[in-house]
Amino acid sequence: MFSRVKGTRDFLDLTLFDFFIKKTSIHVENYNFEHIDTPILETTELFKRSLGTNTDVVNKEMYVFEGSEEGEKSICLRPEVTASTMRAFLENNISSLPWKVYSWGPMFRKERPQRGRYRQFHQFNIEAIGSGEISLDANFIAMLDHLFSEALMLDNYTVHVNFLGSPDDRKVYKTILGDFLDKNNSALCGKCKERREKNIMRVFDCKQEDCQKLYKKAPYIVDSLSEESKKEWEQLQSLLELLSISFSYTPTLVRGLDYYNKTVFEFSSTALGAQSAFCGGGRYDYLAQELGSKECYPSFGVAIGIERVLILLEQIKDKLPLPHKKPLHLFLPLSENQYSLASLLADHVQAANLCVDILFDKPSLKSMMRKANKMGASYVLLVGDDEQKNNTVVVKNMVSGTEETIAQNDLVGHLKK
Ligand code: AMP
Repeated sequence: MFSRVKGTRDFLDLTLFDFFIKKTSIHVENYNFEHIDTPILETTELFKRSLGTNTDVVNKEMYVFEGSEEGEKSICLRPEVTASTMRAFLENNISSLPWKVYSWGPMFRKERPQRGRYRQFHQFNIEAIGSGEISLDANFIAMLDHLFSEALMLDNYTVHVNFLGSPDDRKVYKTILGDFLDKNNSALCGKCKERREKNIMRVFDCKQEDCQKLYKKAPYIVDSLSEESKKEWEQLQSLLELLSISFSYTPTLVRGLDYYNKTVFEFSSTALGAQSAFCGGGRYDYLAQELGSKECYPSFGVAIGIERVLILLEQIKDKLPLPHKKPLHLFLPLSENQYSLASLLADHVQAANLCVDILFDKPSLKSMMRKANKMGASYVLLVGDDEQKNNTVVVKNMVSGTEETIAQNDLVGHLKK
């Protein structure tokens, strides 16, 4: 027997998954985003350049395949898709801006698996490439809030927002934060000491209670912003208020990937336990240049963690307008002599866009009926010797229990009624 690879899942019922994809696609298309797709395999260098070599994702979580021949590039399973989308934008010379696109599919990260955290997981990504206007950030967050609260009917979540300023703001701030950490060095855990050296703002992601207590007193980046950045931060907040988005300013929200600047945000829910964030994103104005573009394409994007949204949807499944399965019309040929006739009749019924199946089973009629019940058949279509001789079918309504004998020529018309 074989088992699944650690951290992967089998999806045996995709009702909620499909519901999420459909609702979300319709929602973002109403905001003028178009569906695209990019490959699962990308060059390893793409993520090293975009996410930063000091991020956990690049450092230890990538599935990498080194080229086997001299000069062959190292490739990997994509750990995220913003970098891929920007690569596609640049490589395909897209010129109409902003390029508003969405995509969804599997991502791969070698993390320690737990509830809501997998090694193969799915994201729904929405990106607007080529717009530096801060109003877009507020509209984007509002679009997501409407998606979760209205289209997906979720209510138990918080919208966290922070503002990371410009690279110059961060240079100033990193020195201030460094001084604070040095002064409190003895109170830091080992991991925070390491982060202080490698990726200083990530100290805020620490899960240790003592470190978190200390960071409540830390200087925050919004206090180190230039006048221009400060104006944008204020503009963002007032636009969110104007759009009636209740959000929580979370100064310790820095996000795990290095390419963000200015607005960053996360949607989280306490109903998810430790892995509480189900959606996160922000502005990435310098990513295009990091990937070799001469031009700057200020951009904004988000990744929704589908598995985590599904955990939330599962909890409110009863009130969701999930699609009903089509009624099943199940042919029961009573002996092998009727197999061809049943196939032919089923073919006609199928052509009328009805859901049809045939039970090629030899046991008694009683056990075939039991199986039909178990399969959830709405109608059972019996064809035995008599029906074959008389060119008829017995149609049994499995809910009311009524039976009618119908001429084979009239069957499709009768069922469509
Ligand atoms: P990120 O790409 O790290 O910004 O993550 C965006 C969203 O993807 C998170 O808020 C999670 O909901 C989801 N996510 C990230 N990593 C995982 C994982 N290993 N398993 C399941 N979902 C994940």
